[in-house]
Parts: sequence; structure tokens; C-alpha cells
Amino acid sequence: MSPIELNKRQNEILDIVKGNGPITGEQIAERLHLTRSTLRPDLAILTMAGFLDARPRVGYFYSGKKTSQAISDNIAQMLVKDFQSIPVVVEESMTVYDAICHMFLEDVGSLFVVDKNSLLSGVLSRKDFLRTSIGNQDLNKIPVHMIMTRMPNITYCMKEDTIIDVAKKLISRQIDSLPVIKERKDGLEVVGRITKTNITRAFLSLADDHDL
Ligand code: ADP
Repeated sequence: MSPIELNKRQNEILDIVKGNGPITGEQIAERLHLTRSTLRPDLAILTMAGFLDARPRVGYFYSGKKTSQAISDNIAQMLVKDFQSIPVVVEESMTVYDAICHMFLEDVGSLFVVDKNSLLSGVLSRKDFLRTSIGNQDLNKIPVHMIMTRMPNITYCMKEDTIIDVAKKLISRQIDSLPVIKERKDGLEVVGRITKTNITRAFLSLADDHDL
């Protein structure tokens, strides 16, 4: 179902009822300098869509009802910048051993790797470290750039992207996190991190907003 877009007058009615309800149709019309009959279609739409409730002899009041409309609006407005975390970044020359320690100390599931110009060059996950650790190699001698997933194969997002877009990328690529980047002339600057935990937090905030 496509979301209903309220017009200016319907939004004005909502504001009046929110601030003054219960209020009769007559009183709303008076405040808007309109006739009751002019308002009738708008009041019908607002009532049917679940924004307003009407009681005989009492008037209209704001239902605050959890309409699917309100929830879908809310989801569409959730942006990366409102839910992202601080990125944990390491340099390409760091050894795998030190990077594993770093991952534990920072308590994260993925590290982003940057080159000498501080631009994104790779991603390291727990599985990358496990894969390297089960081989007979000296972890103190291998730099992370040897084992990382590297550009241009990195999936990323930007601050203004929606949480829905991020969730789609995480699921379709079967990964746990995305770097949030800012485009620069010479590459991508890492400005944040968004993970499945952030998405879960966004989901919970939606439940809180709608008293679910
Ligand atoms: P885990 O290893 O904990 O299961 P992921 O599922 O995120 O974590 O990582 C699986 C593989 O995908 C790893 O090889 C990792 O380097 C790679 N990877 C992780 N995040 C990204 C990303 N944003 N873009 C591209 N590759 C990624």
C-alpha cells in the first residue's frame, strides 16, 4: 500500500486536534475560517486513516494510533547517520597478531583498513583472522593487507543512506557490517561503521516510538 500524503489543510487539522482535542468539527472549522461542510472530506480521510477518532457529542481527538502509515513513514526516514557507530580503523602494515588484539580490545567484529593517505583500502572480519590463524603461519609476520578483503570489493554506504538500504546490502552480501564513507577526490574516507547491531537498535527504536 502506498503511504497517504496528507495535504496542508489535513496537517493543520491534525495540529489543532492534537493541541485542543476533543474538539468538534464546528470548532475546527471556526479556527480555520472554513465551513464545516468544506472540512468534511478531510475529517473523513483523517478518521479513516486512523489519525483521528471521533466520538458523538464529544468531538474529534488525536488517536495516536499506531497506523501502518506512521510506522512505514518512520522506517523510510531512518538514516545511517542517526544509528552509525565509531569506526575502528587500522593501517595496512599492522600485523595480523596486533590486529586480532585490537579487535578484542575494541570489542568489535570487523576492522577497516586504511592506506597511507587514510583512505579505505580493506575490511577484516573474524573469519579472515580465523582462516589465517589455522594455517601454520607466524601471525607476527603477516601484515593485514595480505589477508583483508580489498577495494574495489568493499560494500559501503553513506551517512544519508537509509537503514533499509543498509539492511538490504548486509543480507544480500552476507556480511555483518559496512563502513560509512565520505567520497573524496582520491578515494573513500571512513567516517563511521554500521553493523547488524545498529540495525537491531534501529528496529528497537521503532518499537519504542510506536509503543509496540
Ligand atoms: P564474520 O567473519 O564475522 O562472519 P562477515 O560476515 O562480515 O564477518 O565477513 C565475511 C567476509 O566478508 C570476510 O572475508 C570479510 O572480509 C568480508 N567483508 C566483511 N564486511 C565487508 C564489506 N563491507 N564489504 C566487503 N567485504 C566484507
